[in-house]
Amino acid sequence: MPVSATNTATAVEDFDALIIGAGMAGLCALYRLRQIGLSVHALETAPDVGGVWYWNRYPGARFDSESYTYCYSFSRDLLDDWNWQERFAAQPEVLAYLNHVADRFDLRRHIDFETPVVSARYRQQDGTWLVETEAGKQIRCRFLVTATGPLAVSRFPEIEGFEDFGGECYHTGRWPHRGVVLAGKRVGIIGTGASGVQVIQTIAADVDRLTVFQRTPTYCIPQRNGPLDEGEREDIRRNYGHIFARCRDSFAGFIHSFDPRSGLEVSEQERQAKFEELWQQPGFAFWFGNFIDLMMDPTVNEYACEFLRGKIMERVRDPETARKLLPDHPFGTKRVPLENGYYEVYNRDNVELVDLRETPIQRITSGGIRTTSADYPLDVIICATGFDAVTGSLAKIDIRGLGDQSLSDKWRQGPKTCLGLQVAGFPNLFTLAGPHNAASLCNAVRCTEQNVDWVADCILYMRNQGYTRVVATAEAEADWTQHVNEVAGMTLLDTMTESWFYSAKQPGQERHVLVYAGGANTFRKRCDEEARRSYPGFEFS
Ligand code: NAP
Repeated sequence: MPVSATNTATAVEDFDALIIGAGMAGLCALYRLRQIGLSVHALETAPDVGGVWYWNRYPGARFDSESYTYCYSFSRDLLDDWNWQERFAAQPEVLAYLNHVADRFDLRRHIDFETPVVSARYRQQDGTWLVETEAGKQIRCRFLVTATGPLAVSRFPEIEGFEDFGGECYHTGRWPHRGVVLAGKRVGIIGTGASGVQVIQTIAADVDRLTVFQRTPTYCIPQRNGPLDEGEREDIRRNYGHIFARCRDSFAGFIHSFDPRSGLEVSEQERQAKFEELWQQPGFAFWFGNFIDLMMDPTVNEYACEFLRGKIMERVRDPETARKLLPDHPFGTKRVPLENGYYEVYNRDNVELVDLRETPIQRITSGGIRTTSADYPLDVIICATGFDAVTGSLAKIDIRGLGDQSLSDKWRQGPKTCLGLQVAGFPNLFTLAGPHNAASLCNAVRCTEQNVDWVADCILYMRNQGYTRVVATAEAEADWTQHVNEVAGMTLLDTMTESWFYSAKQPGQERHVLVYAGGANTFRKRCDEEARRSYPGFEFS
């Protein structure tokens, strides 16, 4: 199976497998595919490892997963020698962890940094992929594994006048590495998703004035972060097997599992007690530890919404500001931000909330932001406006499969995939955390490890059977795509709530679900079943 060694005559490098991206998924794939004996290499746009944790250095960036669940499980020694400092680690600790992994397992020598990939073409004549980088370097590989990240392509809002602004302007997803001085400045922030919430609660006390430009309020739940002491770390080390098993069996790869009861079968008093108990717990307990029909039954969901709206009203002193912060979409249909003192920020004299639904932004001016009702003078504008999610990083590469078909063209009417891991017409291409894959609505590491293991097992199967080519069948792809859409349709995700879970980037565009809403546990079982039955949805040759 190995492709031949470096071909100097044409200056094309050859590998069995090429990975695009050296973030959390890419490093894992590099480790695992090397472990099964492939010659493997990775190309990374950034100057170093880390992916989103390399780029997202904005103030307050931290895990929303318990640190000890968002780490690789493939090495017991690694688990033993890393000491998480906080229950939810901050970005510098996460990046230090990923650097430690790269060094500990000697992965860097397989990675070309500052090497964006521009194209990848499948060559039918020899069954390999020819990958070209921005600098013109060519690499040939048998297997192409994309680990480009579902949240990697930052999106600035389409607002007129950015070029006129005389101050500083940053996107959370591309925060400058030199750091940014915000203390004493007039700062405006656009966006109140998970990134915006983390920034807002972190900088409010330091800046001169903070103006929050909010388009859609969302439900934030308390993170309840704190340091881990040595005793807790010891406990965690002893229990890693149990922790990972809990995550594996859960809906979204976290330590939280749904209460098997319906929210309708308990009394009002029991329901409120349950909500309160969950609200007091750290992390995503209120989302993924709630009643089993929270994300399916609009009445149960609305009970949870009412509870959370009540908490917002209690915490924000000014009733008018509190009103602006009250969401009206079903809970969990937008990714829920975890917060540490977020709502109390709005009790500060130096913080103002601008509701863009009442007074939209007209333009950016040389001195700040102009809405339909006022001019807000600013020194710094922070855009926490999200990403071209899930498919955006793949669309940046001209990927062409059989018959020179372009992946972007194929997905123009929405992604079509088999298990979110392969695409019909694109042999030997594996899309880690790609569209229709459970990994985007999941604790990323738990789910990408599953993706990587599945890919490695598939390649091992091919090796044992003497195959060199695998491709999803058109039927299997159609079945999975239909299933993904049907499952989303059975949940409240399929409301008209705008979120990156769906492909519509602008109001009015056609929506296609990008994530798998059936649960990471169901997804895993489905993938395992496919392998156990010798991959009936795939064609080998
Ligand atoms: P996001 O969830 O997509 O939120 C973007 C925000 O910007 C929304 O509030 C959106 O408003 C607003 N926005 C976008 N365009 C706008 C415009 N033209 N005018 C006004 N407002 C605009 O992006 P994010 O906060 O960066 O988070 C993305 C994902 O990254 C999260 O959902 C999460 O999965 C991940 N993340 C994870 C962590 C963590 O685990 N620690 C931290 C941060 C982010 P609308 O709601 O009205 O569209």
